[in-house]
Amino acid sequence: MKNLTGNEIRQMFLDFFKSKGHQIEPSAPLVPIDDDTLLWINSGVATLKKYFDGRVIPDNPKITNAQKSIRTNDVENVGFTARHHTFFEMLGNFSIGDYFKKEAIEFAYEFLTSPEWLDLDEDKIYVTIHPEDEEAYALWHDMIGLDDGRIIRIEGNFWDIGVGPSGPNTEIFYDRGEAYGQNDPANEMYPGGENERYLEIWNLVFSEFNHNEDNTYTPLPKQNIDTGMGLERITSVIQNTETNYETDLIYPIIEKVEFMTDIRYTQDEYKPHFKIISDHVRTVTFAIGDGALPSSEGRGYILRRLIRRAVRFGTKLNFDEPFMYKLVPIVIDVMREFYPEVEQKAQLIQDVLKSEEARFFETIEEGEKLLLQLIEEAKSNQHELKGRDVFKLYDTFGFPVELTREYAEEHQLTVDEEGFKQEMQAQQQRAREARNVSSSMQVQNDVFNEIEVDSEFVGYESTSIQSTVSVIVKDGSIVDALNEGDIGQVILKQTPFYAESGGQVADRGMISSNECEVNVTQVSKAPKGQHLHQVEVKSGTLKTEAEVNAQIDTKKRTSIMKNHTATHLLHQVLKDVLGDHVNQAGSLVDADKLRFDFSHFGKIDEETLSQIEEKVNEKIFEALNVDIQSMPIDEAKKLGAMALFGEKYGDIVRVVNIEPYSIELCGGTHVTNTSQVGLFKITSESGTGAGVRRIEAITGHVAYDYLNDYFDKFKSIKSTINVKADDDVISKAKSMAEEIKVQEKEIAQLKKEIAKSQSSNIAQEIEDINGVKVLVTTVEADNPKVLREIADDYKSQLKSYVIYLMSHHDDKVSMICNVSDDVTDRIQAGQVVKESAPLVDGRGGGRKDSAQGGGTNIDNISNTLQFVKDMIKSNV
Ligand code: ATP
Ligand code: MG
Repeated sequence: MKNLTGNEIRQMFLDFFKSKGHQIEPSAPLVPIDDDTLLWINSGVATLKKYFDGRVIPDNPKITNAQKSIRTNDVENVGFTARHHTFFEMLGNFSIGDYFKKEAIEFAYEFLTSPEWLDLDEDKIYVTIHPEDEEAYALWHDMIGLDDGRIIRIEGNFWDIGVGPSGPNTEIFYDRGEAYGQNDPANEMYPGGENERYLEIWNLVFSEFNHNEDNTYTPLPKQNIDTGMGLERITSVIQNTETNYETDLIYPIIEKVEFMTDIRYTQDEYKPHFKIISDHVRTVTFAIGDGALPSSEGRGYILRRLIRRAVRFGTKLNFDEPFMYKLVPIVIDVMREFYPEVEQKAQLIQDVLKSEEARFFETIEEGEKLLLQLIEEAKSNQHELKGRDVFKLYDTFGFPVELTREYAEEHQLTVDEEGFKQEMQAQQQRAREARNVSSSMQVQNDVFNEIEVDSEFVGYESTSIQSTVSVIVKDGSIVDALNEGDIGQVILKQTPFYAESGGQVADRGMISSNECEVNVTQVSKAPKGQHLHQVEVKSGTLKTEAEVNAQIDTKKRTSIMKNHTATHLLHQVLKDVLGDHVNQAGSLVDADKLRFDFSHFGKIDEETLSQIEEKVNEKIFEALNVDIQSMPIDEAKKLGAMALFGEKYGDIVRVVNIEPYSIELCGGTHVTNTSQVGLFKITSESGTGAGVRRIEAITGHVAYDYLNDYFDKFKSIKSTINVKADDDVISKAKSMAEEIKVQEKEIAQLKKEIAKSQSSNIAQEIEDINGVKVLVTTVEADNPKVLREIADDYKSQLKSYVIYLMSHHDDKVSMICNVSDDVTDRIQAGQVVKESAPLVDGRGGGRKDSAQGGGTNIDNISNTLQFVKDMIKSNV
């Protein structure tokens, strides 16, 4: 076996496919860009979706990459199988409509077994295929020469994620030998079964069908190849380690933990702990490095749970304060060669991780408090901890069920295991549903792929031009003309219409000639880059080759330009005010407003927000020139142009320079001087989850209207509270608020006095029956509390008594009964209320000396009082 490091294997893979004409794509960030159907990039193909479903055509149809991936659905396996991680690297080669099964199989086999490359023992290789994929069988059997015993047919070998490309796959396994289990098909001990002996290292997917919306399968116009090999797995094969964890990609982290704890990895009972910590710290390091932050929702929540899970296992290795952040330098050390960006973020990663860990150590205490409280509650009733509570402890406080169970047993309580299981399943279901939508692609559409005509965008300079119609598409086919009322897509030789991209919405407008008037309702880019106008014919007929006038809505465009330039200013101001960790996470620029999403943890307070707004306005008032130039990318980088993280740029880029304040790569439309933005006003700041904040703002006349509206409201307040001078409004409002407070006090006082004078009247109603003072009457009270206060008042004045008071408020009747201790042998308060309340359609009860009740039938109050009087008379 060759002696290779993990880093060398990764490089060798890329070199191999480069030698086969593939273009090497860099590893994309783990946080998907422009794809909100996925929480994390979870495979090599996930970053290439736009090529796979044909939305974009790549420069080179053969692509290879080493893609960092996160899979949280495998989290329960991590630490317990040899081969699963939450973070791993997937080595892949891809063909977009170029080579297919034959070459894919040839390449894979050559890379694995050729002495020039990995040089694996051919006798150890097994493959699985889809039972109906005779083509794959023939290739493995006849071309490669594998005998039948090494080709296993498995029904599940069909890659299908719902609508979009799908097809059979073939998986390559490596037999790690009898040390990992004797052959036993009954116990999953065969390639493709759930076992530790036959290790799945590589999966080749033959994407050849469109899975259509109606669940039919039709052949794909362009067949694709998508493969994935786990770097950690192939490294464990080459380095002949028991699991992925002893490879040089991960073991240094384990050694560091050993060093920090004085506990040996060789102690079997602790192995999973070491594995989980070293796996999760890799995930967290890379995820934070790519802009995710721990939080209570979505992506941030996954991160938080991984950190908590690792910390929990850490506490079993006797860690009692933050420790994971100290492992970050080791992770970076191993990976920096291929992932230099993570090194640049080292400080941020450590800061975020340390504070999140510290928070969790506190939470463990908080969780303990909650647990003790739940235990107290459980003791006084059902003697069981509710499933929902146990789940909450687990989910929110990261409390493992086993721990909760131990606590419960100490207090002779049980845990509602069934309820807990249900909550867990419900959560897993939610996670699964989130995943299902996740990998959706679009159905390939052939027509646009085949349109080769050129189309030039001239909208940076012009808003209206004479042009020629070059292609018209209706209902998915190329046609010669569109008639009145028709909807279709149009490509022009030249167009001033901006196609939606980079967050900027498309232009709207008209295409017209003597023969027709056509509304442009949307503009997008076709796979080969032409601007595709979505149109609706208002009148006449639009024909191919017709000479037309293309005119955009300039008013809208002007507003869009203001918002786009303001967005660049905001981006730079955020970096200046909040820090360099601020990265654009999404943006929308339309005519009415701008929306900017960026990575940042925690809410931005009012004061900072005003500071941000003020700074943007300063840059507007400074009237800075906006200089736009195209140049080679290297030159732009030298100028310090801000490129969007993970975005792909061509060799020549467009640089928007708001001199000397902001410089960004951008294809959008901008004003020529910041003063044209006019005014900038933030309208909201909020969190969108997962450590991403969102600012919405307006500019120009929209901002002016917005502020004016406030001014109008102010004027209306002024006249309502009857003030002449603007400056007096606040002091008047304050004094009014104070006055109201004083008046409220007075009212309360008066109410009390009324109640008192009432009670002196009532005092006359007290009757003496056999030496017991009996008071049965109605009083005025807004609520049961006041009723109780009134009753208390009498209790304090009387010695031997039976007091029964009723009151009503709206349509609710309340009653209270108090009986002094020396009388309860003859009549009980609880009894009286229990028997009397039904007369007002109500219920009630209580102790011998004190009881309360309520009802709804106000009309029967006096009958009830009579009933109670009779009851007392006959008992006392
Ligand atoms: P398994 O059945 O072992 O979970 P899979 O079928 O989910 O693997 P694919 O989705 O086909 O795997 O991914 C392609 C390759 O990526 C696998 O052959 C494996 O080498 C690697 N891989 C997949 N999931 C993980 C993981 N959680 N940790 C490490 N490597 C993985
Ligand atoms: Mg899997």
